[in-house]
Amino acid sequence: MLMPVTHRTLLLNASLEPLCVVSVHRAVTLVMSGKASILETDGRELHSERTSLPLPLVLCLTRYVHVPMRKAVAPTRRTVLQRDNHRCAYCGGGADTVDHVLPRSRGGRHEWTNVVAACSRCNHRKADRLLHEIGWELPFVPRAPRGLAALMAGSHVDEPTWSAYLVA
Ligand SMILES: [Zn+2]
Repeated sequence: MLMPVTHRTLLLNASLEPLCVVSVHRAVTLVMSGKASILETDGRELHSERTSLPLPLVLCLTRYVHVPMRKAVAPTRRTVLQRDNHRCAYCGGGADTVDHVLPRSRGGRHEWTNVVAACSRCNHRKADRLLHEIGWELPFVPRAPRGLAALMAGSHVDEPTWSAYLVA
């Protein structure tokens, strides 16, 4: 079967809660084995010698699976900017860098609770100083993203048909 390799499918639990993002290969395997059914397609079809299948955008499992914990998403430039909506924590402007609140040069660790999105101007101005040394404050307490935020931060795609299923 010919498959668009970059295509990704949103997989929902039988309860319609989002579970994860899977490759099209995995999506087709789930559908062919009867483990999932297709909720949304984009109109394109996958063809093999014996069968054809709508290209799945959203799948739902036919049986509910219990998921104890989501895989943790690591703080990277992309995931931190996504968590903070690309807003600079210090001036509220557009952010394109990640700032370590407690600078790494002063023992700050690279973890969710010590990173915020920042514009390059604020990042440069702050440099390796502490917030109280320059009279700045954080508008929120940085935390690791949870639930749907973690799911979206961990996926590289922003598929419009998914949004209806990702409402928290
Ligand atoms: Zn800024």
